[in-house]
Amino acid sequence: MKIGFIGLGNMGGPMAANLAAAGHQVQGFDLAAEMPEGVTKADSATAAAQDKDAVITMLPNGKILSDVASEIIEVMGKGTAFIDCSTVDVDSARQVAEAATAFGLLAVDAPVSGGVGGATDGTLTFMAGGSAEAFAKAEPLFEIMGQKAVHCGDSGAGQAAKICNNMILGITMIGTCEAFALADKLGLDRQKMFDVVSTSSGYSWSMNAYCPAPGVGPESPADRGYRPGFASELMLKDLRLSQQAAESSNADTPLGQHAMELYQKFVEEEDGNGKDFSAMLPRFEKRGRG
Ligand code: NAD
Repeated sequence: MKIGFIGLGNMGGPMAANLAAAGHQVQGFDLAAEMPEGVTKADSATAAAQDKDAVITMLPNGKILSDVASEIIEVMGKGTAFIDCSTVDVDSARQVAEAATAFGLLAVDAPVSGGVGGATDGTLTFMAGGSAEAFAKAEPLFEIMGQKAVHCGDSGAGQAAKICNNMILGITMIGTCEAFALADKLGLDRQKMFDVVSTSSGYSWSMNAYCPAPGVGPESPADRGYRPGFASELMLKDLRLSQQAAESSNADTPLGQHAMELYQKFVEEEDGNGKDFSAMLPRFEKRGRG
């Protein structure tokens, strides 16, 4: 396929490189980033989008996605796939898909989980929203860039799945960290705490697969001085998106709201920026109730 790829940062760069390595003709555009290996450079977003079978975007937020979409949609050929892999708000994802569909394009919102490691290794998970026809056109590309793609429903369903998952993740990570800090104060050994909780009803991915306590459980960012992994500011972004969506759909999400506020404080007022989101544990361990 001839593919246009717009947004070649930490995630988009290796994803585009994997498509090129698989034999696709990939032309890229980015305001700042270098072209990855095998990807030719376009001089503008519209040049990257013209005469392609599919265009993929991997951009920072919904505003930038909407701006880029309004430039490129009209130069893309009818029946072309417009696949947005960025994490953005559900409303922007739906508006972009609506505009693309009105021009005869096959729109898919397909945010990912798996981080930079998954993007590099081609092991991302895609959560996709759009028509069955649009998903079918995008699926062979997901197979190159990832190991799993779930068709979640109509436009916006991919973003909805992503932010609901990450809202659970933020809440369970905070719960796991505050429980470790309480266990410390009660004189309970962290390894014993892990041995019990990881096989009891308090278990979760945060405890079992990504334990925030250094030296306990499988290797995780806690064992590397909390170098991300998944940075706290990216967790904050996703929690903000979850609360934006909760507001626009009138959903009651008190713990999601509180998790967002804690990560906001951690990133903006404390020393959380640039640290893995599991660094909530050293934050709690230093504090008392006051
Ligand atoms: P990044 O900042 O490294 O990359 C974004 C790229 O977009 C940059 O290179 C930037 O120059 C480019 N860009 C910005 N505006 C542009 C424009 N108008 N035209 C062309 N290029 C433009 O960010 P990233 O880590 O690659 O993340 C991209 C998306 O993936 C985000 O939505 C993020 O939330 C999501 N995501 C990131 C991770 C992660 O671990 N980094 C994991 C899952 C999802």
